[in-house]
Amino acid sequence: SATLTLIPATLIPGDGIGPEITAATVEVLAALGAPFQWETQVAGLAGVTACGDPLPPACIESIRKNKLALKGPLETPSGGGYRSSNVRLREEFKLYANLRPAKTIVPGGRFDNIDLVMVRENNEGLYMGYEHYIPIDGDPHAVGMSTGINTRQGCRRIVRFAFDYAVKQGRKKVTVVHKANIMKALTGIFLETAREIYAAEYKDKIIMDEIIVDACAMKLVMNPWQFDVLVTTNLFGDILSDQMAGLVGGLGMTPGANIGEDAAIFEAVHGSAPDIAGKGIANPTALLMAAGMMLDYVKRKDLGDRLRQAIDDVLNKDQVRTGDLGGSATTDQYAKALVAKIRG
Ligand code: NAD
Repeated sequence: SATLTLIPATLIPGDGIGPEITAATVEVLAALGAPFQWETQVAGLAGVTACGDPLPPACIESIRKNKLALKGPLETPSGGGYRSSNVRLREEFKLYANLRPAKTIVPGGRFDNIDLVMVRENNEGLYMGYEHYIPIDGDPHAVGMSTGINTRQGCRRIVRFAFDYAVKQGRKKVTVVHKANIMKALTGIFLETAREIYAAEYKDKIIMDEIIVDACAMKLVMNPWQFDVLVTTNLFGDILSDQMAGLVGGLGMTPGANIGEDAAIFEAVHGSAPDIAGKGIANPTALLMAAGMMLDYVKRKDLGDRLRQAIDDVLNKDQVRTGDLGGSATTDQYAKALVAKIRG
């Protein structure tokens, strides 16, 4: 029998529905024999509650050591309060590529046979939080300002990542999404860099096309099948990837991988879903699919494929589904169905 070498990985259950979907995911991964040795850490609101810090040093150190993490959603207060722990993690570990596949698992929705991948730049753009207010006439917040920054180096890195990924996955086309007509500097250098890298390194390997972000949003709804892999700057990627999640049955279905030089962190695209937290009804599929990407990443695509097949079978053949998919299964019933399917 093969000796199983365990891979240490940080597990952050997160906030809201996070602990529920993480427990379900860990249970399914155990049934699968996934080779992860979990080190549980807190962050987000759970971090504030446990030790007064939304990103405790112990959590950062654990990820630094393991270079690998599975993370539940972390709550970020809007407006005031603390800065997003998600954004801080992306900065801390230079997780420059946010890979978000949107693939139809459950057919019969508004759109069928969707198979798209968003490659979102994750460290630059309008997400950097270089923000300030200008006071006028006694109103301290009379003007709000945000500075977006894209670097040539950052553009090269993400564009190469997208082209490499697309070529390796046998994809046909990479669409560069921009707003270079208006934000000529910020997204102009992104488009320019994509054209240069494509011409120099990829023109014989794959097709590239270009689209302005607003037209892209419209076309994603009119005819999403015309797209394949999309690559864009941080904020556009944030918005369009949620739109793409909508094409495949909502946020409960779409995983995301944050990949960088110093670590890789896998998560669901959705947030902590405070409206359904604690009820045991959340859909853990997105986090399970993220765990599938994590298995692929550690070169256990065999296990990733088995996991994806079990999800497909349980949702479609057995029709065990959570409420967001029109079913009545609880998170736990769905997880148990997956475990039974995997154990055969
Ligand atoms: P959300 O994704 O948490 O919820 C949006 C809607 O989708 C809600 O109706 C929710 O019930 C539903 N939903 C989301 N995931 C679901 C699932 N797995 N199963 C069933 N239904 C699901 O978005 P929000 O309400 O805008 O954000 C809530 C919090 O999450 C905020 O504090 C936000 O900052 C945070 N957030 C975190 C991440 C992350 O950790 N990566 C991502 C997005 C939002």
